[in-house]
Amino acid sequence: MKPLDPRLLRRARGARVFLAASVLIGVASGVLIIVQAVLLARGIAGVVLHGSPVTAVAWGLGAVVAGRALLVWAQEVVAQRAAAAVKSTLRKQVLQHSLKLGPVWLSGERSSALTTLLTKGLDDLDPYFARYLPQLVLASTVPAGVIGWMATGDLIAAGTVLITLPLIPIFMALIGWATQARSRRRQHALAVLAHHFADVVGGLTTLKLFGRAKAQVTAVRRVTDEHRKASMGSLRLAFLSSFALELLASISVALVAVGVGLRLVDGKLGLETALMVLILAPEAYLPLRQVGLQFHASADGVAASEEVFRVLETPLPQRGDRTDVPDLRTIPLYLYDVTVTYPGREEAALDGFDLELHPGEVVALTGASGAGKSTALAVLLGFVEPQRGVVVVGGSAADEFDPVVWRRQFAWVPQRPGLRLGTVADNVRLGKPDASDDEVRMALLTAGAGELELDKAVGEQGQLLSGGQQRRVALARAVITDAPVLLLDEPTAGLDADAEAAVVAGLRASGRTVLMVAHRPALIAAADRTVTVGTRELVKV
Ligand code: ADP
Ligand code: MG
Repeated sequence: MKPLDPRLLRRARGARVFLAASVLIGVASGVLIIVQAVLLARGIAGVVLHGSPVTAVAWGLGAVVAGRALLVWAQEVVAQRAAAAVKSTLRKQVLQHSLKLGPVWLSGERSSALTTLLTKGLDDLDPYFARYLPQLVLASTVPAGVIGWMATGDLIAAGTVLITLPLIPIFMALIGWATQARSRRRQHALAVLAHHFADVVGGLTTLKLFGRAKAQVTAVRRVTDEHRKASMGSLRLAFLSSFALELLASISVALVAVGVGLRLVDGKLGLETALMVLILAPEAYLPLRQVGLQFHASADGVAASEEVFRVLETPLPQRGDRTDVPDLRTIPLYLYDVTVTYPGREEAALDGFDLELHPGEVVALTGASGAGKSTALAVLLGFVEPQRGVVVVGGSAADEFDPVVWRRQFAWVPQRPGLRLGTVADNVRLGKPDASDDEVRMALLTAGAGELELDKAVGEQGQLLSGGQQRRVALARAVITDAPVLLLDEPTAGLDADAEAAVVAGLRASGRTVLMVAHRPALIAAADRTVTVGTRELVKV
């Protein structure tokens, strides 16, 4: 783990501004610390040596303390703002990037991991900005200033600090090494515990039913015990390490103090200088020790930001930027020898697939479950890059075109249509925002969902509608667009054969090209032509 990830500065302007402001505040803090030490030393020496009044010094000290308070406040404000700005920038970038990466990349557990990362995960950056980074800046400004100033009064003391100061980061690194394995073990114990609890709570009814609930108690107790031991172990180490650092700093200050005392007795050093050096010495060590403490507090946030960069650094599929996509109302579309193998899979999801799609045709795509039908649609939409083969239209390969413009040729009803909170009409209007009520009603009718009221409520992710209704609303949303080609992934599940035939007739009447994944005979019969996916394997065998 680096002290400061340069990618954070590169990606988020807020972080750069924050760092600049923090350096200013850090320098000002350093100056105030020195002024405070000088004033204190002068005041005490004045009283002790000449019995002079302390009012002027007291006023000065008051001003310095007020100034330091002000700086702490400013630092806090700047940090909170920066954290908010950086989090929102990163969230926006991740969202935009994952949109470009497309639904296939997002599918599966990645979307839930991404949800966690973008909500709770990034919030862990707060302590990183509010505590750790300001300390890091202080640690790189204050000791230098303090040592520099000490050198003007007492070179030997400054030298002592300069030599002992690096011991602190060295010890921190050593302790860090020692604790790494341990904290990893603790993280592991925690994860096991979380899974165990989730399993037990989720399956409580089943466990009760089979009389196994008691046995689980022992298991949970064992895992909890392991976690307790691991936690106590790392706490012990944490205490021990802060003790070691404390000791180190104290001994270093003592070294300085002894030297200063001897030279004071010898008369080689004035009282005021000696006091100034003594007051300043601990200030040189403090920021470094604080950095060590805050480093651990912000580890989660750093881990989250690393996860963010992993997403942002996922390369986008290479697509051209031509915008002159031929109109598929008049020009046919061809797939030649399209082969797709998903990352981490051995077998091709789609192997040497050929297809031609002529304007106005209704083509049924059939094949066993897992044969690659959805994958074929994803290739057409440009969500998946085939390893071999091309999609050709009007003599050009599809990947020469700007994906956004390319996709305007298609309306897609995915296998699991995403509906959003609102009404049925809201969801249909996603296809055409300015559609009139009549248009929406017509689209619903064409999609075989004439029974749905326009203002019927739709819950999050389509709740409040049955599975079949959700698909038909999604179909209506595709119908209402003016895209020339409709790609439908099992759109009519939940309709009877007559209704299914009526839907296909409606689609045909709208003059569009339709490529639909179909299982049931009625739907297949309603198509002009059937293309089977995944037959090649069978032929080979
Ligand atoms: P169909 O729609 O014909 O049921 P799919 O095109 O969804 O089939 O899937 C074809 C094969 O590719 C299946 O074996 C499936 O497990 C695999 N597959 C689909 N999507 C992914 C993905 N995002 N990552 C890895 N494998 C996938
Ligand atoms: Mg499918």
